[in-house]
Amino acid sequence: NRIVAPEYSPEDAESENPLRPKSLSEYIGQDKAKENLAVFIEAARQRQESLDHVLLYGPPGLGKTTLAGIIANELGVNLRITSGPAIEKPGDLAALLTNLNPGDVLFIDEVHRLSRSVEEILYPAMEDFALDIITGKGQMAASYHLPLPHFTLVGATTRAGQLSAPLRDRFGVVLRLEMYSPQELAKIVTRSARILDIPIEAGGALEVASRSRGTPRIANRLLKRVRDFAQVISNGVITYESAKIGLDRLEIDELGLDANDRRMLATLIKFYRGGPVGLETLAAAIGEEAVTIEDVYEPYLMQIGFLNRTPRGRCATHAAYLHLGLDPAEGMPA
Ligand code: ADP
Repeated sequence: NRIVAPEYSPEDAESENPLRPKSLSEYIGQDKAKENLAVFIEAARQRQESLDHVLLYGPPGLGKTTLAGIIANELGVNLRITSGPAIEKPGDLAALLTNLNPGDVLFIDEVHRLSRSVEEILYPAMEDFALDIITGKGQMAASYHLPLPHFTLVGATTRAGQLSAPLRDRFGVVLRLEMYSPQELAKIVTRSARILDIPIEAGGALEVASRSRGTPRIANRLLKRVRDFAQVISNGVITYESAKIGLDRLEIDELGLDANDRRMLATLIKFYRGGPVGLETLAAAIGEEAVTIEDVYEPYLMQIGFLNRTPRGRCATHAAYLHLGLDPAEGMPA
């Protein structure tokens, strides 16, 4: 259970809801996505139509679920939340869709994990707002065409490439969420601290932000951990110093890397001369699943320019060598 893993974990549950911005103006960063969305929402409102279906993609913890809630709020409609793996049978999806009110937002997280048979029901629902259901077999077969209320599907996925082409084509609005800058994350940390009633100084907020891997979920999690250190080792105020002590004790370095990241980079450098090395080989060498490396380790290491994916495999960059205190020419301590 890594503190810096961007996926949702049950320990986030209690604080995530109060910390979720409710309107576009409260939602920090992602300016491009926000500006476009504001126009589409306003246009749909003026025409009194449902908003086009929206696909949000980007790594976990960047605010996709939050944005779905904001879309529903701004449109003044209900939000229904589900996920690809939770919709097991076509009937599950039919039940969800027939219970929507006109204009409602249906949020499907991990939309790339819908089964084929469920996806097939979804196509006419998205396109014609209708369910085409076939019951029985052979001579007893009958087909029904059931009209649905107009609704907005907001789908979220960590990688747009995993989505089937016919599903991707049915989203009118496709928005990519980017990792946040430390300055944006510092604003998020300051806002969260205010809501949770945690005293924090600007230097403390920036220190937490800088080590949060561009990800609001991690920033909020680190804020809560650092609060404990500030309370026990000083007067409870999160300052630059108390944040630094807390984060050092949690073994999260200045760039947000934890022991696992450093171990993977060190393995890549010491055993494979910095690469290229195949994903599966690297996974076996550090005892992780390949998908964990792709989804958890790599996005951030690539973002900060420590790792390259090449056709021949993964490569550590010079910056990674230097961060680990190794000489890029030798792969040995500099
Ligand atoms: P995702 O669905 O992409 O995994 P979430 O929407 O659940 O991410 O966001 C995780 C947490 O981060 C939420 O609790 C939310 O409070 C916070 N958060 C995400 N994006 C923002 C933002 N732009 N501004 C403020 N807080 C944010």
